[in-house]
Amino acid sequence: MNILDRYHAMEYGPAPEARNEADAWLAARDFGKALFIDGGWKAASGGKTFDTSEPSSGKLLAKVSDASAADIDAAVAAATKALPKWSASSGYARAKVLYAIGRAMQRHQRLFAVLESIDNGKPIRESRDIDVPLAIRHFIHHAGWAQALDRDFPGHKSVGVVGQIIPWNFPLLMLAWKIAPALAAGCTVVLKPAEFTPLTAILFAEICERAGVPKGVVNIVQGGPEAGAAIVNHPGIQKIAFTGSSEVGKIIRKATAGSGKKLSLELGGKSAFIVFEDADLDSAVEGLVDGIWFNQGQVCCAGSRLLVQEGIAEALIAKVKTRMSRLRVGSPLDKNTDIGPLVDLTQLDRVKGLVAEGAKQGAVCWQPDAVLPSSGYYHLPTLATGVSPANILAQEEVFGPVLATMTFRNTEEAIELANNTRYGLAASVWSENVNLALHVAPQLKAGVVWINGTNMFDAACGFGGHRESGFGREGGREGMFEYLKAKLPLGPVIKPAVISAQPVEQVDGAAIDRTAKLFIGGKQVRPDGNYSLAVATAKGKLAGEVGFGNRKDIRDAVSAARACKGWPEATAYNRSQVLYYLAENLSGRAGEFAARLSELTGANAKAAREEVEQSIERLFLYAGLADKFEGRVHQPPARAVTLALHEPVGVVGIVAPDASPLLGLISLVAPALAMGNTVVAVPSERYPLLATDLYQVIEYSDVPAGAINIVTGRSAELAGVLAKHDDVDGLWVFADAETCAKAEAESIGNLKRVWSGNGRGLDWASDEAAGDAFLRRAVEVKNVWVPYGD
Ligand code: NAD
Repeated sequence: MNILDRYHAMEYGPAPEARNEADAWLAARDFGKALFIDGGWKAASGGKTFDTSEPSSGKLLAKVSDASAADIDAAVAAATKALPKWSASSGYARAKVLYAIGRAMQRHQRLFAVLESIDNGKPIRESRDIDVPLAIRHFIHHAGWAQALDRDFPGHKSVGVVGQIIPWNFPLLMLAWKIAPALAAGCTVVLKPAEFTPLTAILFAEICERAGVPKGVVNIVQGGPEAGAAIVNHPGIQKIAFTGSSEVGKIIRKATAGSGKKLSLELGGKSAFIVFEDADLDSAVEGLVDGIWFNQGQVCCAGSRLLVQEGIAEALIAKVKTRMSRLRVGSPLDKNTDIGPLVDLTQLDRVKGLVAEGAKQGAVCWQPDAVLPSSGYYHLPTLATGVSPANILAQEEVFGPVLATMTFRNTEEAIELANNTRYGLAASVWSENVNLALHVAPQLKAGVVWINGTNMFDAACGFGGHRESGFGREGGREGMFEYLKAKLPLGPVIKPAVISAQPVEQVDGAAIDRTAKLFIGGKQVRPDGNYSLAVATAKGKLAGEVGFGNRKDIRDAVSAARACKGWPEATAYNRSQVLYYLAENLSGRAGEFAARLSELTGANAKAAREEVEQSIERLFLYAGLADKFEGRVHQPPARAVTLALHEPVGVVGIVAPDASPLLGLISLVAPALAMGNTVVAVPSERYPLLATDLYQVIEYSDVPAGAINIVTGRSAELAGVLAKHDDVDGLWVFADAETCAKAEAESIGNLKRVWSGNGRGLDWASDEAAGDAFLRRAVEVKNVWVPYGD
């Protein structure tokens, strides 16, 4: 036997991380008083506890206080009491606290890592080298944001008391992602860890005690779904930040509808790991190990769908299998372990069930020969081949060490397969051709794209998804906005529409000529139902009739908006020019529009003219900003740059107000168009003729067919149709409170981003009713990580 043979024949010896410090901490703590409220440790008011156990053995670790609704009340009261002083404290004062937290965590880094691995089951290499250092980086990074608040976020202030609910897969890291930006922004928090993994949050609360966090600024309550629901529904909370499953995310979206609470949802995923034939296969295999077997695949952005180009599929799968055979499954505290146990027996059963179902549906599930430890919730790494796109393993988030493989022939097919999911969290693209990778990245429906890499995170780079992966971003500048509120000039309360005119059937003949049609796909079309609505002048006379749009008309308009590729793919300069033309053409007919405004609203000639002039000015503004509201380049502490690209949200539904019927509509439609969205607008129900008069202006302005669609009719009804439509990506509603609340509640199908005025309009004439606050809502930030170096 030569030296190399001997080397390969050698077995790994155990390399356990010492756990005595963690065991001593566990033994010394009173977990019956585990609620950290108002700077003190409390037992649950009802005396209830829940068990947390060790996934590698099933042994009980602690019986932890289970917060009741009364405890949540107490935590919210403490956060409310602490808010005025904390939010008014200087950025420097808050920065010092955040920095002190980061430094104190550094001093206890090892204890955090060991506790995390004991409680969650993740390999110590991961908790030690990834979770804990990243969590610390988050606090230190956000110390800077606290101080830079006035400089970087002018006109913004803290959103108030926030409720934060996190999952068990990255207990400390998710806590850091939530608490650091909230404190930087001047918010006070009530955070609930997941019931499987309460321990590191308790240690973190101890750190808060020592790091000088004022009482009540951070409150950490333990418990399960009931405690979570008490936070979500608490009237004293102004924002909910949730990370967890899409299922619970939808419950929360519905529960907070109409409450005015700001909401961010970081949910599940089914991310694609795309390997092109020119990829460096060995690197791709290492990437895969990280992409799907990191944290046993219990990762929201796990690359759980391997899409591989046909020509290299066999070679890549062979390499993957060889590599899988070398993955070491074992104790999370062993430094050689690659794969630890799943978090709980329920999770193990779920994963096994999904693998069995996937196999039943035709997938071939392969596992390496390996002996699993005799106790604990272990699951072997699993490779599923022969997976059809409809297979449960290709569609459902498994949240376990299971990789579903599919092949593709060309780039288009790769993109189509990658996007064939209801999620939109992350994707990896592997190719040695950076041109190809940067061609594919923008076409993937994902909030984060890693090129020749995977699972790269940094506090300075936003993370988050769209579609059923939720909305909002964590980290960096984008993440800070989630805890801030912009000063928007509020308008009066919007009352529900008074329904006076009933729809009348359109008849052929003279009357039809007076009926303005709908504007769909660049054409004026008759409403599906063939009914129209009379529109009255200010003096109560008949001004004209408009189409009575219905569900089918909205569906047609959404299809036209979706089919319009010319607008989102146009250059920003091109969009800018078209918006300038719109302004120019509206200007050419300013007198006519002013007369129409006076006739319908009764506004005097001067006021009407002013509204038209302001509408033109606003079009000009967004024409100018179309090629200026751009993304950024981040330089994270890695050999990579992160391109934070501004992408359009997609198809945006807009329900415009009656107040300032021309300016209100244009103030909403123009920023959406400027950023490359296509729009389905429901104009003012009372004064729709101002929108129908715009058809010709649009037609003369080179707007591509389908970029703007206008459906007149009953706002409340059409808002509901837009909210329920799963091909609408964003919805902006300025209507009465009930319509706004319903739109939010009914948006859960695809979790579209809803911006509602909550029953209030804006003062559309104010300069503050324009600009970045609108443009930000018109974009999704996609973070594309591009590595460099050999
Ligand atoms: P989960 O949704 O079951 O639970 C998450 C948290 O919500 C827990 O704290 C739980 O107690 C609480 N909760 C449960 N029901 C609730 C209710 N009705 N009201 C309020 N709170 C409630 O998710 P999980 O199983 O703990 O975590 C796994 C999920 O988290 C996966 O889907 C994963 O993709 C997702 N996740 C997403 C991200 C991201 O950034 N996008 C990060 C990590 C995990």
